[in-house]
Amino acid sequence: MNPSAFPTYRGIMEYVCLSCGKRSGIDELLYTCPHCGGVLLLEDTGFDRLKKISGEEWRTLFDARAAGKTRALRGIFRFYELMAPVLEAEDIVYLGEGHTPIIEASSALQDIVGAFFAVKNDGQNPSASFKDRGMACAFSYLKSLIRKHGWTEILSICASTGDTSAAAALYGSYVGGAIRTVVLLPQGKVTPQQLGQPLGNGATVIELPGVFDDCMKVVENLASNYRVALLNSKNSWRILGQESYAYEAAQWRDWNMKGLNLFVPIGNAGNVTALLSGFLKMYALGIIHELPRIFGVQSEHADPMFEYYNSGEKVFKPVAVRPSAAQAAMIGNPVSFPRVRALVERYRAIAGMDAFHVMQVREQDIMDNMLTANRHGHILCTHGGECLAGLRNALAQGLIGKNSFSIIDSTAHALKFADFQQRYFTDSFDPAYEITPKDALRNAPVTLLSQERKAELDKQDVSAYVQEAAQAVADTLHLQKR
Ligand SMILES: *Cc1c(COP(=O)(O)O)cnc(C)c1O
Ligand SMILES: [Zn+2]
Repeated sequence: MNPSAFPTYRGIMEYVCLSCGKRSGIDELLYTCPHCGGVLLLEDTGFDRLKKISGEEWRTLFDARAAGKTRALRGIFRFYELMAPVLEAEDIVYLGEGHTPIIEASSALQDIVGAFFAVKNDGQNPSASFKDRGMACAFSYLKSLIRKHGWTEILSICASTGDTSAAAALYGSYVGGAIRTVVLLPQGKVTPQQLGQPLGNGATVIELPGVFDDCMKVVENLASNYRVALLNSKNSWRILGQESYAYEAAQWRDWNMKGLNLFVPIGNAGNVTALLSGFLKMYALGIIHELPRIFGVQSEHADPMFEYYNSGEKVFKPVAVRPSAAQAAMIGNPVSFPRVRALVERYRAIAGMDAFHVMQVREQDIMDNMLTANRHGHILCTHGGECLAGLRNALAQGLIGKNSFSIIDSTAHALKFADFQQRYFTDSFDPAYEITPKDALRNAPVTLLSQERKAELDKQDVSAYVQEAAQAVADTLHLQKR
């Protein structure tokens, strides 16, 4: 196979309903099963043909593509055959998503934590969160539909905790043409940066009272009654794109999964679905020889998946969420729960019960771990802090060994959640968060000299201000004269 040519393999993709098992064609945009309303996953019914190629050959091909120059294969579609092998090169949207760096934790931080680990900085995607992976795939599919059907106008819509809307607005405005983007946000529940992103990209931004779960219900209502393209992770094309995270993590480890743990936050559960699915596909093709352990992490303020997997309950119960610093995961009724349940069953059947866990962490630990990591040269968002807190819980509970290796997912860039850092530094969290700043982790600017003093000094000779300011800085820092 020529690593620099666009792949010739085409899959036979279908939507599969996780409730009734019925299949539907992909010529239509479907979000739920037309027969029973169940949640869907996309499946390549020709997948077994890929087994004719050995795991070794796949690894070589993916490694070679990493050095290639074909535009359509530069991003997540380096793993084309495993994701959405029905798209043509001309439909593939590439804005630089994927191939985010995996940075080994600074040695001082690994000492503090007491384990070997690295951070996958998924905030280094174009809209600064992992959502771009799924959006690149969903928009590529949308583009192919627009081309095939000759649609002249299509309204794309999503509910969001902030990052889905940022990604949808970015990709929508890039593709342009027939696409108009509308995003629904829970008022006051996204950060100023996340609100600014879709506004800047020219999307129609609608704010509604309530939390994400409320907005999601409104969007679902719109999607079933009007002609709109839903871009939430209910849209299975997003899941396919997000599988690229698993492929990249495996490639970074040189495809050796021994002793590897992955920690990922769970909100609407699309990301953890994609991880499970991605590793299962690589395993089926012999690209990897064992499955890594996957740890979902939830705040105790939004933990329905933790409850389901740890309370011995056999029925899933949505929870009412409370304010969380891991705000993009503040979801009480994850849309992808049925997908996770189905995939975890398959995952555990191969790799054992211990191959999948959901950890619960405290709000305090989310912030403390984010700030501790960032004081050691990292760029964790609050959800990265949540993952690190989950890793430390797993260590404390003896679920992972000190000699194992973990990759934690910082799902967004630290800057998107600067607001939470600021609340910590200024001790201004609403009591409902249950977060009390630790002095050792706080920081604030040191303000020297007033504007009035500057004006006075400027009236004196040219060096007066510099002399007084330098003296003030030297005094503050206790500098030694040379
Ligand atoms: C969306 C999001 C999550 C939650 O991911 P799900 O796929 O909904 O579980 C976590 N962190 C960030 C930064 C997000 O944007
Ligand atoms: Zn069905």
